[in-house]
Amino acid sequence: MTHPLVEQIVAAISRVAGSPPVPLHAPRFGGNELAYLKECLDTTFVSSVGPFVDRFERELAAYTGAKHAVVVVNGTAALHIGLLVSGVLPGDEVLVPALTFVATANAVAHCNATPHFVDSCEKTLGIDPQALRTYLERNAEVRNGCCLNRNTGRVIRAIVPMHTFGHPADMQGILDVAADFNLTVVEDAAESLGSTYHGRHTGIFGRVGTLSFNGNKIITTGGGGALLTNDVALARSAKHLTTTAKLPHRWEYRHDEVAYNYRLPNLNAALGCAQLEQLPVFLAEKRRLYKKYREALSGVVGVRLLGEPEGCVCNFWLQTLILDDDVAVLHDSILAATNDVGLMTRPAWVTMHRLPPYRDCPRMTLRVAESLERRIINLPSSAILGSEGAL
Ligand SMILES: *Cc1c(COP(=O)(O)O)cnc(C)c1O
Repeated sequence: MTHPLVEQIVAAISRVAGSPPVPLHAPRFGGNELAYLKECLDTTFVSSVGPFVDRFERELAAYTGAKHAVVVVNGTAALHIGLLVSGVLPGDEVLVPALTFVATANAVAHCNATPHFVDSCEKTLGIDPQALRTYLERNAEVRNGCCLNRNTGRVIRAIVPMHTFGHPADMQGILDVAADFNLTVVEDAAESLGSTYHGRHTGIFGRVGTLSFNGNKIITTGGGGALLTNDVALARSAKHLTTTAKLPHRWEYRHDEVAYNYRLPNLNAALGCAQLEQLPVFLAEKRRLYKKYREALSGVVGVRLLGEPEGCVCNFWLQTLILDDDVAVLHDSILAATNDVGLMTRPAWVTMHRLPPYRDCPRMTLRVAESLERRIINLPSSAILGSEGAL
């Protein structure tokens, strides 16, 4: 027999999302995508240089309020380079949330550094700065301007806050801990394009921030990512490192370091320009969808729909249902029941410290992250479900 709560949730989602099959998150191409792609083909600028690359960088900087944006092949590459230009060295440790997509930890590993896992906050789903401060006071110390892990003897160089499903993390608290322990802040804003924290766009609080334009993100370039920074020297070195470190010259192929081919092709940037034009519409639709779910779930006891943290604007990229502790046992039944009827829902990620490559990494107590992992369910979240014409 199905638990009544499972039935209530299936009913609430069907009321909002309509007839199945309903994907978790479908991209939408309702603007200048075709025209801009055709322009690439007509001009033969399809590859790694072209006017849309420069334009997409300018427009991303203008939209987010960052002084500079550097576009790259994907969000993981953006994080990798963001960590490198922020001074992360082989052998360092980097604080990352245990509750994140694997790219955050992978980017640290790509630098030959070690991810060091941090607990989450129940309210924001991001790093919990109070718990982190207590942990660092007991396990780390600042010596010669570096934060040393007393247990491993390694330098903890940086911290990577991530804005989970678009919900801004407690940036003030995180910046305060980072300042007190000499940690460089690299913001993983892959999921939060359009989200602001106290009036400023997410991704511009640290030395560098990064975005992703993968197919499931709020805007997509097929695959793509960007670095955001206010530091012109950092922007230049990110551009250099992502474009094979080639020295400018009319014909010579001279490269001054081992670097990467992380350039975003003009074709993808063209898609990005067209998508960015529609971002305000997507944001409005996602907000309307959030309100519809809130209404549909208002009488359902035992779950809450994650809302906007105080002083923040959320892009509502993925609508997030959180089960109360006492009904957490129903997590998998709810996932099964919704997916069985073609309403695509997904759990949060398996926490990083439970994945084989990261099992032995240093970590604090991850009580909240582990609990959230058992209680989060993402609901069908395509912008179209919140459009004026939708039911
Ligand atoms: C999507 C995402 C990334 C980057 O992913 P790519 O697929 O490489 O663009 C990084 N961090 C988080 C939290 C993400 O959700």
